[in-house]
Amino acid sequence: MVSRIIPVEPFDLVIFGGTGDLARRKILPGLFRRFCAGQMPDRAQIIGAARGELDDARYRTLIAEAIIEFAKPSAEDHAQIEGFLKHLAFVSIDAKGTRGWEALESLLRDDVVRAFYFSVAPALFGGLAEQLHSYGLVDNNSRVVVEKPFGRDLASAKALNAALAVHFNEDQVYRIDHYLGKETVQNLMAVRFGNMLFEPLWNSQYVDHIQITVAETVGVGGRGGYYDTSGAMRDMVQNHLMQLLCLIAMEPPAKFDPDAVRDEKLKVIRALDPVAPQDLVRGQYRANETQSGFLEDVGNPTSKTESFIALKAHISNWRWAGTPFYLRSGKCLRARSSEIAIVFKDTPHSIFPDAGGTHRNVLSIQLQPNEGMTLDVTIKEPGPGGMRLVDVPLDMSFAEALGAESADVPDAYERLIMDVIRGNQTLFMRGDEVEAAWAWTDPLISGWETRGDRPAPYDIGSSGPDDAMMLLHRDSRRWREVR
Ligand code: NAD
Repeated sequence: MVSRIIPVEPFDLVIFGGTGDLARRKILPGLFRRFCAGQMPDRAQIIGAARGELDDARYRTLIAEAIIEFAKPSAEDHAQIEGFLKHLAFVSIDAKGTRGWEALESLLRDDVVRAFYFSVAPALFGGLAEQLHSYGLVDNNSRVVVEKPFGRDLASAKALNAALAVHFNEDQVYRIDHYLGKETVQNLMAVRFGNMLFEPLWNSQYVDHIQITVAETVGVGGRGGYYDTSGAMRDMVQNHLMQLLCLIAMEPPAKFDPDAVRDEKLKVIRALDPVAPQDLVRGQYRANETQSGFLEDVGNPTSKTESFIALKAHISNWRWAGTPFYLRSGKCLRARSSEIAIVFKDTPHSIFPDAGGTHRNVLSIQLQPNEGMTLDVTIKEPGPGGMRLVDVPLDMSFAEALGAESADVPDAYERLIMDVIRGNQTLFMRGDEVEAAWAWTDPLISGWETRGDRPAPYDIGSSGPDDAMMLLHRDSRRWREVR
């Protein structure tokens, strides 16, 4: 296949927090891969801006090490590191003071796209926007990229939106949810809106239920302090799982443009019913002989924060009334797996009563570890023995289906940063979407806080607490296995 990589326009990208973990692990390795793919123009400039006292040479060394560690370049790409580093500069800056701002101003050019990536704690967002404005660095064509967490409740999200809105228009603000940058997530839209096959069946008449699972094998790691103030609901459901739910449930937008898509997603969030306490399960992984448990990991023996959550959501509109959406996410589970499963209803009548078991079509969309889709269809088991039915997957692994071409598929961060430069907001969250998601989440959190609910313990390496299994068993359904 012919490569379709088109270089983006020349740009200045300022990464505030350019020495931080996210910059070193994701942002700069991602930019390096786009450089290797030939997408970075000659006049691209990437300016790391952070508190450290580095010069350009030491910054380039730091980033070269990060690229080797996190981008794991092939021998061919390794040879390109020097070329990439020439695009980098560093400014030692104080987001809250005067140090470094004039140096930054002198590096910025007027004839290129200008983007500011706020890869710093959200508490600094407002101050950074203010400083950029007071040094005259923002014009109508400037963009700002902000990281999660975007608030910890509706009030703080509104305050962040308001702080950004003082100096940036909404069409200049790019709120990252890296799940939206995944190839499969976009493929979900292609499958829904590019085929005649699925859309007529995409409603409560034909869909029995939908499951969205984001399972991790790791615990909270070094993020214990932060995580104890957050939990699975704030860290995963309010943003990533909510975005996936929106893309599955939304009406077809009239066109594939940022506001048309985001308008439809917003309608879904606003149509979500409150979740009843009995439809919500929270858990904490407990210690075993070899591994510490959640309470030790966050250093808080009385913590009531959840490392696992499962819930049943309902969308009150014509398309989805009566079809539950089961969401779950947790840490220290059996396998690392993110999957959306659309489970279709049984056939209205079986003409094969002795065919063995019930059979259902399931469209499953895997986001990690490998991106791909499978559609389970029921066929006759080959060979003698009468009409016995068996479900087999029609498999579409991107790596296999697209062969070498799939090696060029950018990862989520790469794609999203290139979208910022291109000025395409489709895969970024709009301010009102984020606020609507918090408006749905807040009462659930305050509900369990008021009741004083304690998360149920679960074993490391399991599928979560037993109550999560019961959530579906009660409805005569079962979770798909996490594998
Ligand atoms: P980090 O602590 O590793 O790095 C923070 C960076 O901010 C450093 O470069 C530091 O020099 C800079 N900084 C701090 N205070 C400053 C100031 N006053 N002036 C100028 N620079 C200052 O943090 P991180 O893990 O890279 O996270 C950055 C942001 O991204 C946070 O909001 C975090 O929640 C979010 N995030 C991180 C990850 C991740 O995997 N690390 C994932 C998703 C979101």
